[in-house]
Amino acid sequence: MSERRIVALAGGVGAARFLSGLVQVAAPSEITVIVNTGDDRDFFGLRVCPDLDILTYTLAGRIRADTGWGLEGDTFACLEQLRRFRDDTWFQLGDRDLATHLHRSERLRQGATLSEVTREITLAFGLEIELLPMSDEPAATMLVRSGGERCDFEEYLVRDGAPDDIREIDLSAARSARPAPGVLEAIAGAERLLVCPSNPVVSIGTIRAVAGVEEQLRARGDAVAVSPLIGGAPVKGPVDRLLPAFGVEVSSTGIAELYLPIAVGMLIDEADRDEAAGIEALGLRVRTAVSLMRTPEIAATLARAALELADEAAGA
Ligand code: GDP
Repeated sequence: MSERRIVALAGGVGAARFLSGLVQVAAPSEITVIVNTGDDRDFFGLRVCPDLDILTYTLAGRIRADTGWGLEGDTFACLEQLRRFRDDTWFQLGDRDLATHLHRSERLRQGATLSEVTREITLAFGLEIELLPMSDEPAATMLVRSGGERCDFEEYLVRDGAPDDIREIDLSAARSARPAPGVLEAIAGAERLLVCPSNPVVSIGTIRAVAGVEEQLRARGDAVAVSPLIGGAPVKGPVDRLLPAFGVEVSSTGIAELYLPIAVGMLIDEADRDEAAGIEALGLRVRTAVSLMRTPEIAATLARAALELADEAAGA
């Protein structure tokens, strides 16, 4: 197992599966993950950070397998009881999951930063890998619907079921947020830079929007990205409904164009191999791989392929 410093940009479920492969082929203590916090918001006075928690629970081997979020075996008694008082209980927060949000919220109220609390939580779950929130400041992604109504990402995705009516994606909060301590340094100091198979707009795009991050990524220009599309479609999530609002074609080629300023290579699924020549013509190295991470073994093979492509591009 090599000991090179690897930095990965990550959203939620797709990234979590990929990183569970990466920790099998690289030392977890040498991996820093910069995580999207654009989906974070308060529920019932508690700070919930969906992508940070999905990554933590997955890497700790505690994730609920059927959903890709929440804790395995969790119950929902608190939420059921809350329904007695209110009707805005659409976000599924399990009883054990609530402990994470209670602890985080209390520590934030005491003056701890999100990075500090995240470190406490990941250590408590026994993780060696470092998860860095992209920013310690609130940076909510807002979506503008065709009727002009604004909503946050969780309202769009969970409450409303990700409808096909997004006119605009507003990343202005991320743009005015400062990167969390260590984020720019991690990018500058990385030996290998990876972009997980995550939503390129509302996960990776949000991280790129944080003040100074895009400049740092462009200064390197050597990221290797894993496409979140298989056969031109997302495995899950609304990426196909959000790319058009960003003026991006729903294909690995469209995503490659989006990543071109920061990337040197891209892994695409074997089902999309006919896009390889076009992406290479854009100037990226391309490899095809089986990218549906149904098992930890497939995730490890995919992660190894991403590292090999990054090594090759670095001339290592
Ligand atoms: P979210 O915050 O939970 O939506 O998570 P992400 O930002 O990670 O976005 C989910 C993306 O991950 C979607 O575009 C999926 O297509 C992608 N994804 C999920 N599982 C897989 C997988 O097994 N392989 C690949 N290539 N992509 C995946």
